Amino acid sequence: MLLQLYLHFPFCKRKCFYCDFCSAPADAGTVAAYCSALKKEICLTAEKYPGAKVSTVFLGGGTPTLVPGAQMRGVLEELRRCFDLLPDAEITAEGNPGTLSPQWLEAACACGLNRLSLGMQAAQDRLLHAVGRIHTFAQAREAVTMARSFGIRNLSVDLMSGLPGQTLEDWRGSIEAAAALGVEHVSAYSLILEEGTPLWRMVEGGSVRLPDEELAAEMYERGVTWLEAAGYARYEISNYARPGFRCRHNMGYWQGSWYAGLGVAAHGMLPPDASQAAQGAVRIRRANTERLPDYLHALGAENRLPPAEITAVDRQEAMFETMMLGLRMTDGVAERDFERLHGKALLQVYGPALDALVREGLGAWSLGAAGERRFFLTPRGLEVQNEALMALMP
Ligand code: SF4
Repeated sequence: MLLQLYLHFPFCKRKCFYCDFCSAPADAGTVAAYCSALKKEICLTAEKYPGAKVSTVFLGGGTPTLVPGAQMRGVLEELRRCFDLLPDAEITAEGNPGTLSPQWLEAACACGLNRLSLGMQAAQDRLLHAVGRIHTFAQAREAVTMARSFGIRNLSVDLMSGLPGQTLEDWRGSIEAAAALGVEHVSAYSLILEEGTPLWRMVEGGSVRLPDEELAAEMYERGVTWLEAAGYARYEISNYARPGFRCRHNMGYWQGSWYAGLGVAAHGMLPPDASQAAQGAVRIRRANTERLPDYLHALGAENRLPPAEITAVDRQEAMFETMMLGLRMTDGVAERDFERLHGKALLQVYGPALDALVREGLGAWSLGAAGERRFFLTPRGLEVQNEALMALMP
C-alpha cells in the first residue's frame, strides 16, 4: 500500500490576525514533549500499516521551522526508522521566513527534506504588517537564498490576495516578486475572513477594511493571468507550477490517495479494517484531537494513539469526494481513474449532472496524453466551483 504522511506542528511565534488554524505560541518544554509524542505516534501508526511504502511526507503547521533543528531531526529519523520511505519520496516542509535558520535546514536536509514551501504572502511589508505576519519581504528573499544554499531545488511560496489595503498593483508586485525569486511553485490564496479571528473583529469594528468584492474578484482573475504569464501553469484552483514541479503530496489528496495525519488536529484518509468494510465503509476519515493536553497524555502516559474522530465513508460519499477534490485540478477526473477507484463508470453515476455542467459552460471533456477521457471544470467553473459541484451532490 502506498501511503502519504502529514505531520502537524501546532506552534507559531505569534498568531497572524487572520489565522484560525490549530497553532499557538509554546515554550521549549512543550515543543520537546510534543516531538516525543509525535515520534510515538509515528511508531504506533507504522505498526498499524506494516509494509506501507511512503511516497510523500508533508511537515505542516503552525510553523515546523520553529521546532529546534535537533528535535526536527529526531522526528524525521524516527519516521525513517519506522516507515519504508520510497527513495524518491517528496519531503516538504512549510517554512516561515521569520523563523527559518541554517541550523534547521541543515538538520532537515540531512534527513531528506527536498521541498520547502515558504509563507511569503506579499512583497509589501505594510501588507504583511497589517495581517500580523512576523516577517518582512526581505526575510522571504533571504529564506529563498538560504534554502538554495542547502541544495533545495524545489521551492514554493504562498501568496495572498484580498489583504487589507492591498491594491491590484500590490498584488501584481507580489506575483512578480515571487517569479523574480525564481521559485518553482506558487500557491495563491484569497484571504478568507474567519469568524472569531482578530482580523474579523477589526473588520467588524470598522478599524480595518478589506478590498471590496469587485476588487477581490479582479485580483483572483488577474492573478491567474499574471502567474501564467510568469511561467507558472495553473494545475489546481490555487496552485501553479513550472513544468515538473506540481506538489505530489497535495496531488495525492485531490486524487484520493491514502494518507495518515499525525500530530494534534491532523486529518487522515485511510483504508477501512475488515469490520468497517463489512459495514459498508470504503474509506475512513480520522481527525486527531485538537486538544494538545489530550494528545500528549494519550501518547505519553497511556502509550496509545491519540483520541480521534473516526468517520466511515461509504461508496456514495467517496464517489462525491472523488469529484469534489478531483475537479479542483485543471486536469479534472479521468473516467479510467474513477472506475478503478469505485468499480463504476463515471457516466453511469454522474452522466446527467456532467451534461448539465457542459451545457452551462462550467465543465468540459478532454482527451489525456494516454487517450483517456477526462472531465474538468472550465476557468469559469473553477471560479464558481462550489456552485458547480452542487449539481453532483448525492
Ligand atoms: S504562521 Fe501560519 S499557522 Fe502560524 S499563525 Fe500565521 S497563518 Fe497561522
